[in-house]
Amino acid sequence: MTSSTHPAANDLLNALCYPEEAISACHNPKFPDVIASAKAAAIVRKDESEAFLIWCAQTIDSIQRGFISAFGSLKTGSFYEAWCQFERCEIDILSLSRHYPQTEDDPHRIAYIERMVLRWQAQYPYKVFFSPELLKKRVECSICGARVSPRSNCGHEKSNIYFGEMCYHKVTEVDLLSISIVQDPVQKYSVAFLSTDSDGEPVDHYNYGNLKFLVDRLDSAFHGWESYLTTRTMTASELAHLSPTQPCPCLSGKNFGECCMGKSEMNVPHLQFQLYVHPSKNLPANEFLLGDA
Ligand SMILES: [Zn+2]
Ligand SMILES: [Zn+2]
Repeated sequence: MTSSTHPAANDLLNALCYPEEAISACHNPKFPDVIASAKAAAIVRKDESEAFLIWCAQTIDSIQRGFISAFGSLKTGSFYEAWCQFERCEIDILSLSRHYPQTEDDPHRIAYIERMVLRWQAQYPYKVFFSPELLKKRVECSICGARVSPRSNCGHEKSNIYFGEMCYHKVTEVDLLSISIVQDPVQKYSVAFLSTDSDGEPVDHYNYGNLKFLVDRLDSAFHGWESYLTTRTMTASELAHLSPTQPCPCLSGKNFGECCMGKSEMNVPHLQFQLYVHPSKNLPANEFLLGDA
């Protein structure tokens, strides 16, 4: 087989530049197959350095595609699914950064995606996670399948790329020792949902209001934004609709009646979003006071 039937790694990498543009290969559903067959051909030719670069293209494609899918999930209200897709992006970005140097101009927008994944994650209401403590009884090398133990070593290094595949350690037998509830988990998939329905399925009780507000005002995953936690002064008339038994908006934890009720004005925590691209849909007149030309 000659290389002429498959695009070279550099062509694949170039096709993935500027994912914000519709012409970028990350919007082509067949492109992952194109990459996979180019990689298979490089492996047949025993071209290790080409297979390595194709792995980089494959990982970049996966990051861009995952980020765009996560944005799509937010748009359709699948917030937990988007959370898992952002987590997958974060892991892929870490793998890529070990091997493929980023340039200042960021043509693949990896630095941008990394920054935005963190910003999206920060808007989630998730605060507690389940964290399993596992006893790994059997661990295998993903490259050669050999058992990994302190006394045996197949020679493959974890996280290195061998013929276009990253080496990781596969846990094939495990004992679950305990599950703890933590605030800063190693892996973020296991969000603690409050309750289960009659079938034992988790019920999503979280309030995604901030996320929904934000995503409704963005037309593309590549339209940047920032959020600022500020305070806003509210007057007594703006608070008139609150009942004394409701939680106080100053977030003291007390009831309104025992806290700020009766004050002529009060400062409340306020989340402010700044969008870099004007949304296409019409918004209430009281939005876009900042930076709206
Ligand atoms: Zn191995
Ligand atoms: Zn108060």
